[in-house]
Amino acid sequence: MNTKRPTPIRGPARPTASSETVRANMKKQKRKDTKCELAVRRQLHRSGVRFRVDFRPLPDQLFRVDVGWKGRKVAVFIDGCFWHGCPEHGSLPKSNSNWWAAKLDGNRARDRRADSALRTAGWTVLRFWEHENPESVAKVIVATLRSGQPTKSASPSQTY
Ligand SMILES: [Zn+2]
Repeated sequence: MNTKRPTPIRGPARPTASSETVRANMKKQKRKDTKCELAVRRQLHRSGVRFRVDFRPLPDQLFRVDVGWKGRKVAVFIDGCFWHGCPEHGSLPKSNSNWWAAKLDGNRARDRRADSALRTAGWTVLRFWEHENPESVAKVIVATLRSGQPTKSASPSQTY
């Protein structure tokens, strides 16, 4: 999967100006309905699997899953290499790298909080990178659904 990367800005630029430019470049990085996600959805369709896209799995949480099954409590995230800091393609823009490091760290921290909130609520969480092969991703998803134990009506692991 070829990923557009922000063009590094050369030379010392004033932080605000360059950060605006970088931010503009970032807007080209799609957050939703990435090519990979669409390809995975096509594969799932082919496997005869029906699913929901882009929904909030937990009523008290704002985050959304990319693809998932509420009844079976399976959540799939297909993380953009840039936004989620993929080890292979997640390089920081050269200008304002501190700002970006903080921003992307924040994204990763939010991912981990979402994972743990879901797991606490009894969900199975599957995370993939957008650079992964959509067919393999779909296979893992389908295998997880097939092996999936029927949803238990309650799995209270909270200790309030
Ligand atoms: Zn990647």
